[in-house]
Formats: sequence, structure tokens, C-alpha cells
Amino acid sequence: MGHETIRRRAAQTQDEELFRILLETLPDAVYFKDLDCRFTRVNKAHAQRWGLRPEDFIGKTDFDLFSRESAQAAYQMEQEIVRTGEPVVSFEEHMVTREGADIWWSSTKLAIRDPRGRIIGTFGVSRDITGHRRAEERVVQSEALYHSLVETLPQCIFRKDLDLKLTFGNQRFCQQIGKSLTELVGKGDFDLFPADLAKKYQDDDRRVIKSGKVFEGIEEHKPPGKGTIYVQVVKTPILDPRGYVIGIEGIFWDVTELTQARKALEDSEQRYALAVAGANDGLWDWDLKGNTIYFGARWKAMLGFAESEIGASPDEWMKRIHPEDREGLKASIAAHLAGRSAHLEAEYRMLHKEKAYRWMLSRGLAVRDAQGKATRLAGSQTDITDRKRAEEELSRQAFYDTLTDLPNRALFIDRLTQAVKRAKRRKDTRFAVLFLDLDRFKDVNDSLGHAIGDELLKAIGKRLEASVRPGDTVARLGGDEFTILLDDLKEPDHAVEVAERIQAELKQPFVLSGQEIFTSVSIGIAPGTVSDEPEDLLRDSDTAMYRAKERGKACYEVFDTTMHSRAVARLKLETDLRKAIERQEFRVFYQPIVSVRSREIVGFEALARWQHPSDGLVPPANFIPLAEETGLIIAMDLWVMRQACVQTKSWQGRWPELSINVNLSSKHFSQPGLVKSVEDVLDDTGLEPGRLRLEITESVILEDVPRIADVLGRLKELGVRLYLDDFGTGYSSLSYLHRFPIDAVKIDRSFVGQLGKKGEKGEKAELVSTITALAANLNMGVVAEGVETEEQLERLRALRCERVQGYFFSKPVDAAAAEILLTRQPNWS
Ligand code: C2E
Ligand code: CA
Ligand code: CA
Repeated sequence: MGHETIRRRAAQTQDEELFRILLETLPDAVYFKDLDCRFTRVNKAHAQRWGLRPEDFIGKTDFDLFSRESAQAAYQMEQEIVRTGEPVVSFEEHMVTREGADIWWSSTKLAIRDPRGRIIGTFGVSRDITGHRRAEERVVQSEALYHSLVETLPQCIFRKDLDLKLTFGNQRFCQQIGKSLTELVGKGDFDLFPADLAKKYQDDDRRVIKSGKVFEGIEEHKPPGKGTIYVQVVKTPILDPRGYVIGIEGIFWDVTELTQARKALEDSEQRYALAVAGANDGLWDWDLKGNTIYFGARWKAMLGFAESEIGASPDEWMKRIHPEDREGLKASIAAHLAGRSAHLEAEYRMLHKEKAYRWMLSRGLAVRDAQGKATRLAGSQTDITDRKRAEEELSRQAFYDTLTDLPNRALFIDRLTQAVKRAKRRKDTRFAVLFLDLDRFKDVNDSLGHAIGDELLKAIGKRLEASVRPGDTVARLGGDEFTILLDDLKEPDHAVEVAERIQAELKQPFVLSGQEIFTSVSIGIAPGTVSDEPEDLLRDSDTAMYRAKERGKACYEVFDTTMHSRAVARLKLETDLRKAIERQEFRVFYQPIVSVRSREIVGFEALARWQHPSDGLVPPANFIPLAEETGLIIAMDLWVMRQACVQTKSWQGRWPELSINVNLSSKHFSQPGLVKSVEDVLDDTGLEPGRLRLEITESVILEDVPRIADVLGRLKELGVRLYLDDFGTGYSSLSYLHRFPIDAVKIDRSFVGQLGKKGEKGEKAELVSTITALAANLNMGVVAEGVETEEQLERLRALRCERVQGYFFSKPVDAAAAEILLTRQPNWS
């Protein structure tokens, strides 16, 4: 390599290095793109603006990084540059990322050429002007805000320039002067007002301009066609950004009445503070010596009277006061005059000319002579009817149930608190809380509709009220729950009598929309002696009600303290369980069912597990009973069924013969919709019906034989198979088996457990062989559960049991582990 080449290379390297430094230190964003508008290089400033690294851009287009619109706009411009070779200089570009972050650039874009002058891409440099744009937007916004404020304020607002010519007036101002804004702009005070007033206004204006300080005062106005009015005015200098005064802004409002009252008071050379809030107050001034009252025009108008219709006698006031409020007002006045209160403040109703009462608030202050004796009393009266109505409505809503108009929970607790307090003071008072819950209200709602349901609740409320004494409180807590506070009981047993009476009353049918509806209630009774805490009493009565429900419907139960701890634990579990369904904390575990002959997995039983957030994996024994009691089992079982079907369907890709056993609680059979639900699961998951086996317990087929036979028949029609679970533990009347379309029985593990043991109990083994023989006779299959040892398996084979399940093969495991079992197909020998 010659010296020249080395030098040239070195120089090139140096240039490249300089260029790199320049690019990376430049505060402006720089990019290079190829002819396809792909980024080939961007500098740090560019990448940082979007929180990315320069290499994140390489090979990407704007479409990969920015919103469609921004990318499209940039793309079109760059294509244009490539086509024409013309640069675009300092235009405003708005880029928005796909996440919605945005930026305003001032950008310049040009074509890049190779040494031979051919265009090979584009180059752009952009300056961030987002801050600037935002500031501009803010100015526009705050101007709009100012404008709408100025136009909605009840005050008159105007602006003048340094020559004291009007530059602006809001609508109120224009109305007040009686001219339009265009007529007013450019005019001075002498063009608009009498000379003496104009001079005074301008003197005040000049003072503001000179001093740069705010002026406040009372001005006289003489609007055309009206008498003199007084306005409170505030004048403020308008400053430019450097702080120079460039005009003034004024704001004023009518205070005529107030000023006249002040004047009147000043005239009598008495000065005192008068708390008058605004133009809506009616003024009054009571001369106590002469016993006359000056009533302001507003005061009279508030009651619907014209100036001349009301005289100056105190009786004009007192005779219109609601009889119930009159003494209260007189007492307040007397208290203030006697110096017992700092000022007069009273609320009362007054008769309006239209013969309706309106709520009024009066505030006043006495004027006293040197001896401290009140000589006059003056004040203002405000109409507060709207406020009072709103308050009443609010308190009604806060304390009464809107459907039944009965007290709600809050008011009930309040009354209960009073009762507790009374009982503490006087040992001989007794009270009790009754908690009522309708039996099967849901059925009414479901079958007759919510409108009838609501009617029923109302009617029940009425009946309840009729069956207690006036001092007692009947409340509705919500839904179909009512509570009663029985106050002042003579005998503790009396609460029980009331409960019995209520139950008898509610047994009578209700006739609603021509239909007879029968209902009953379960009642829990908490005697006032069980706690000092209202909330606890309510809870205890609820617990007792729950007990009553458990005993069978239409009962009552009196709370005793042993119910408490059980109830608390139960309640926690129940709440957890409800949440578990919402939060999907259930898991499905699978236990293999194995063919005795081939020792291969032929199916699984799906078993529910609860992944409790704090207690870990909860076994079914700890939550199934509660789930059954609360009815949550229905949703849970269907969920397990759905999961298991989806899982089995997916396994069938590799193991087509696989079937799945799912447990069905007996609760399903007291509920309509089971058949439809199963059908839906099959439809939705696409599992072949013959692969689904429903395990039901003997208790199901013991009740109500014809109806159950019908449901089972319809399930069979769907094509699913039916298994009888835990066979042998229940009533096991083998003779009725043939009446139901059962496909197989599962021999309970308590029998299997006895097999192959030393000293095996003869009758158990016998039973197993009887069952298998019977099953064969009835053409039913047999599955033995709980197989734990090789010997048991041997015995079962000898007894011609075809399928087995148990820890000997595997415990129930999650889907992933089950799949491993399927793949390995251990043959367990
Ligand atoms: P089950 O239907 O009789 O289920 C068989 C139970 O026996 C399972 O208990 C299983 O783990 C256990 N087991 C299996 N092989 C052996 C063994 O070799 N030795 C012993 N000692 N036990 C064995 P698990 O999973 O605790 O379920 C208990 C019960 O909970 C079930 O009895 C069933 O009645 C109920 N259950 C479980 N999942 C559901 C469900 O999704 N819905 C309904 N309704 N009930 C369910
Ligand atoms: Ca089972
Ligand atoms: Ca079983």
C-alpha cells in the first residue's frame, strides 16, 4: 500500500470519526433512510426521543414504529423527495408512536446522492418543538376558558384601553348599558354616561392606570329608564407580558338594596355589621322602640307580595310563620335580644301568598344602646326551600329503602343503637332483633318475573308492619331480607311469639296481579342480651336465621353463643369459595382408570382441587359440602366437566379410546337445566358423548323415583354414560338398580380396602363378588376404587372386575402429569 493511499484512508477514517461525533452530540434528531424508506442510521438524539436505541431503528420503516397516519405522511413526503430531488425545509411534522406518544418536529428532509449524483436515499434533521406547540395550545385553551367564564358570570365585565375607550364588554355589561358590543367598542365614558358620572369613572380608571393597583368601591349608575342603582366595582390593571399597564378591566354588580339598607342604617347614625350575602336576601329592620319593621322589597317579593301589600307591623311576619315553627323563632329572637346568642339565626316555614309554606332562614343582629339594651334588630331573610327539600330527599334516601319505603340498614342500626343504649340505662328494658329471610324468593322472581317479585316484597313489608307494635322497627336490608327490632319487650318469650305470629301471617297467600302466591320465612332471633354491639346483634340474628333454614324452611331459631364460632369459620370459607369461582382458583386433577386385563389407562376420573391463595391445595372434602349447601356446586361441577371434556378431547388426538369420568353432585337433580347444561358442554367442546361418564351417588336414585328416572333417561338420550359412585355405602338396594339406566357401578374403596388383608372379612369379599355377578347380570360394568396393593388387584381380577382405580396406579395428578402417564403407559406389574 502506498503512502498516498494510507494517508487518504487515514483522512477518511478521521472524517468518518468527526462525522460520528458530530452526529452523536447534535441535539437535533438525524436519520438516514434508503430508497425503501428504511432507516439505515439514526443518531442518539433521534432514538432517545422515543426511548429506544439507535440500532432499534435499523432496517425498520416508519410503519413499524409509528401510527399509520404519521408513517403515511412521512412516507409520501420522502417518496416525493426521492422522485423530484427537491428538499423540504423547516416544515412542521407531527409524529405519533403506535403507543400514542407524540411529538412535533420542525424538520428538513433532503435527498442523499452517491458520488455520481444518483439519489440513494433520504436524510432528515428534526428539531423538537413539542414544548412550543403545547404552550401555544395552552394559550388557546386558557383563552377559551376565560371567554366562557366571562360570559357566564352574573357580573358585568368590561375592558378599556389606555385612552379609556372600551375594548370589550360581556353580555351582561352590554345589557346593563343597553347597547350591543359593536356599538360600545371604541366608545368612552362621556359618550355613554352623564358627564358627572363619566368624570368620576375616569378618575378611578386613571388612578388604577397610574398606580397599577386594584381599585374597589361603590359606584352610582343611572341606566337608561331606571332609577339610580349602586354597584360594587373592582377595577384591575391589565398588564402586558413585560409588566406594563396597557388598559384596565372592570367588574361590577348590583348592590343597590344592600347599599340602601346600609345608608338607612348610617342615617340613623348606627353602624353595625350586617351579614348579607347577596341580592337574593330580603332585608328587614325592626325598630324595637316603635315596634315597626321595615321589610325590604325582596323580603315581600319572596312571599309573593308587592311592595304595598305588606305593612310595617311585626305581625306581618309572625302571622305567616308556620304554627309549629313560631315559638322556636320567638325563642331565638328573645335569646339574642337578651344577649344569650351572638347573633340571630333561625330556620322556619312561612306562608307564601300562593298558600304554600316555604322554608326561610333569617340572620340578624341587635343594635344596642349605651346600657346594652337592644333598640333595633336588623337582618336578612333567605328562601331555603330548595335546600331543605334536597336535604329531606337525601336523608330519605339515606335511611329508607326505595322499594318498600321501610327503614333501611343504616336507620335500623341507628334504632338498634338507641335500643342498646336504653337497655344499658334501664336494666328492665328488653329488646330483640328478628332476622327474616324469605324461603324460595328466587323461585318467585324466576317464574313470575321481577315486577311481581317487587310487589311481593312490598306486600310482605306491609304485613310485617301490621304484625308488630307501632314502637317496633321493620326494616329491609336488601333482597329478600327483612329485620325487625322488637323494643320494650315485657317478657323475653314475647319475641318468639311475634316470630310465630309473623310466620302465621305470611302463610296466608298474597294475591298479586290476580295470582295467589304462597311464601314462608325463616326467622332468626337474637335477644338483646347477647351483645352490646348493634352490628353483632344483627349478625347473630342472621346466624340464627341460617340455622333455621338448615333445619328446614319456615322455622325460627333463637341465637345461642355456640352458633357464633361455627358461623364465623363458615362465613369466611363461603366468601373464599365465592371468590374462588370468580378468580378461577379451581383445578382439575386426573386419576387414571386402568383396565385389569391390559393394564392400560382407559380413562380418567376428573377430581376438583382448590388452589387456595393462602392455604394451598385444598382437598374436596374441605369445600364440597359447603359448595353443596350454598349451591355453588352447580357452577363448579359444570366448570370441572367443561375443563375435563376439553382436556380429554385434546388427548384423544393421540389416545382416541380415552374416556372421562366426571362427578355430579346430587344437588343438580333438584334443579332444572342439568340436561341442557351437559348438552351445551358436549356441543361446545366437541367431545363425543359416549366418552363422557357422569358419576352420581345412590342418594340421587333414592328420591322421587319417576322424576329422576326421567332426567337420567334424557341424559342417556344425549349419549353419555351413567356411573353409580360409592356403590355399597348407601342403601344399596341392589334390587332397584334395574329401574335406572345405569351403565356401570363403582365399588366403594371401603370394600376394596378389606380385600387381600390378613384375616380378610369374608362378607366383604362376598359382597364384591355379588356385586360383580349382579352387574354382569344387568349388563353393567364394574370399576373398583381405592386399589392400593398388588394383592387387591389380584383378588379383583379373580372376582372378574374389569376396571380399577387407586393409589396403586396413581394418585389424582394434574393434566401435565396425567399426560406423562399416558405417554409412558407403565404397565404396573
Ligand atoms: P369420589 O368420587 O369417590 O372420588 C374418589 C376419591 O378417592 C378421590 O378423593 C380420590 O383421590 C380417592 N382415592 C382414589 N384412589 C384411592 C386409593 O387408592 N386410596 C385412597 N385412600 N383414596 C383413593 P378426592 O379427590 O379427595 O375426592 C373426594 C370426593 O370429593 C370424591 O369422592 C367426590 O365425592 C368429591 N369430588 C371431588 N371432585 C368433585 C367434583 O368435581 N364434583 C363433585 N360433585 N364432587 C367431587
Ligand atoms: Ca367419583
Ligand atoms: Ca367414589
